[in-house]
Formats: sequence, C-alpha cells, structure tokens
Amino acid sequence: MTTFAIGVDLGGTNLRIAAVDEAGNLISKTTLETEVSRGRDAVIDELCRATEQTREKYRGHADLCGIGVGVPGIIDSETGRLVESPNLPGWSDYDVKGDIERRLGTTVILDNDANVAALGEQWLGAGRGAETMCLYTLGTGVGAGIVLEGKICRGWNGMAGELGHCNVEPVGYPCKCGSHGCLEQYASATAVVRLAREGLATGAATELRSLAPAALDSLAIYQAAMRGDAVAKAVFNRVGQTLGLGIANVINAMNFPLFVIGGGVSSAWDAFAPALFAEVRLRSYVYAATTAEDGSGKGGRKRPTVIKRATLGGDGGLFGAARLAMMESATRNA
Ligand SMILES: [Zn+2]
Repeated sequence: MTTFAIGVDLGGTNLRIAAVDEAGNLISKTTLETEVSRGRDAVIDELCRATEQTREKYRGHADLCGIGVGVPGIIDSETGRLVESPNLPGWSDYDVKGDIERRLGTTVILDNDANVAALGEQWLGAGRGAETMCLYTLGTGVGAGIVLEGKICRGWNGMAGELGHCNVEPVGYPCKCGSHGCLEQYASATAVVRLAREGLATGAATELRSLAPAALDSLAIYQAAMRGDAVAKAVFNRVGQTLGLGIANVINAMNFPLFVIGGGVSSAWDAFAPALFAEVRLRSYVYAATTAEDGSGKGGRKRPTVIKRATLGGDGGLFGAARLAMMESATRNA
C-alpha cells in the first residue's frame, strides 16, 4: 500500500489541504476560503473537517503516516502553541496543536508556514539535492525558513529564521513587530506599493500616476519597471538592495550554500535581481570571494553561494507540511 501524509497550509486567506505520497507526488489538493473574520473556532472546524475528508477518502487504499500543518505565526516548538500571529488576530497564545489533535483524535505536527515552505523547496523544489538552504518568501510580509542538514532550523524557542525582521535600515519605516526598518518593510508586496506611493509623492514623472489607487499593486509596478518607468525601477532597486543586504548578513554569519526566493514578489525577479546581486557582492566578502558574476565558483572554486528563485510556487508549504509529517513519523518509528 502507498504511504502518504496530509499537508495543511493555513494561510490568512486560504486554507489548503493536500495528500502527498512519499515520492513527493501530489495525490489530491483541496483549497478553501478561510474566513479568518469568522474566528478561530470556525477556521479550525473547517480545517479538521477537510482533513478528515481527505483521511477518509484514502482509508483502506493508502497508509496515512501523519498530518503536518504550516501556520503563519510564531510556534513554540515544544508545546505546539501559537505564540503570536499578525495574520491571525485573536489567535495569540492558543494551543493550536492540542486543539486540532483533540478534534482529529490523532497527533499532528505544526510549524511556521515559512519553515515548512523552506522544507518543501528543499525536498522537491529549487533546493532539491541541497542539505542546507535558506528560503525568503516575499508576500504580504517577508517570511523566511532555514533548513539545516535536512531539518528545519528552529533555534532555541522554535522561532529561528525570522529574517523578514532583520534590520536593513537603522532609522527606517516602522514595522508591526515594534522595530523600524525591517526587511519586510522594503521587500514585501505591501512595501512595494508603499514605496511606489512614496515615489509618486515626490512629483516625479511616472506612468504609475495614471493608475487608479486600487490598481497600484506590485504586479502593475513590476510591469511599469520592465517598461523602463524610473519610479517603478527605483522601487524594485530598493527591494533588491534591501533583500541583498539581508542575505549578505546571513552569508557573513552562516556561509549557507543556497538562498531561494519565493512568494508573489519573486515573480518580479528580473526587476530586482541585478540590485540584489550587486548588494550581496558589496556587503559580503565571503560571497564576493567565492562566487563569480555568473554565479559559478570564482577562480575555479567549487563552492559558490547560489541565490535563485523558488520553483514550487504556492505549493511549497503544502509539500513541506506533508514532508514534515513523514519525517516525524520516521523518527517516531525508528
Ligand atoms: Zn519587523
């Protein structure tokens, strides 16, 4: 019988559930609108109902080895409590793991959504074959996850990898985490729109001025940048420069071999990558000493630092959550 795991991606707007087999094949996928406004109980109800349906569908045909859930927020890895989540208001200090387990009558494993997305990319995406890598997801915010020698790096409290809140501008834009100048305030989709508005406020000539306020989104700004619009280009230069600064600091500290960039804003790669690579080269002599302009090893060195786009799109978190459940099951049965 095939063995499979269920991966759940609990987003701020979508709730997605997938059955994935051990070879990484997607057996089934369900997407539901999560109405976070209906409250925690309603969302967890829906999550458990859909997970139960997936479990029932394969009962007798395939062996379920575990259920993994990616949650947008900081999870206490020891207790499975959701410590804090800006995208799930009212969920702070909530025993999400215990609640799901009580309702489903089985154990589940939980982790931060960016952490499981990193595991997914390492398993089946841009990080396939790499044991260690770091993923940045440039979405509404900036999430990040680190996979260290095949496992999610959780740190002391399960809160490692909050690279979106690393500082890239000492006196910068205020961040909801309480600090100023976090990477999230310069490289997220939200930041792209704010930076464009700041550009518009300077009075500079730009085609963005012809857009209705609601149409000013990161895609429209990207398209304008690719047509050569100076204000839009400056926005993505800032995205690339700040992301490059963040990555360079991590390279200097950890000398990781691979950085993968995902999330909606990563589709604007062509607009921000040149500034990103220039900044990493400027800020990290480790990078500059090992990696040539074309990304190969410099001077014949065999270990360049690679920075590239994610390949799993929005499914990285689903695959990673399923993978996490498989790894947990293997440890349990060892
Ligand atoms: Zn912050």
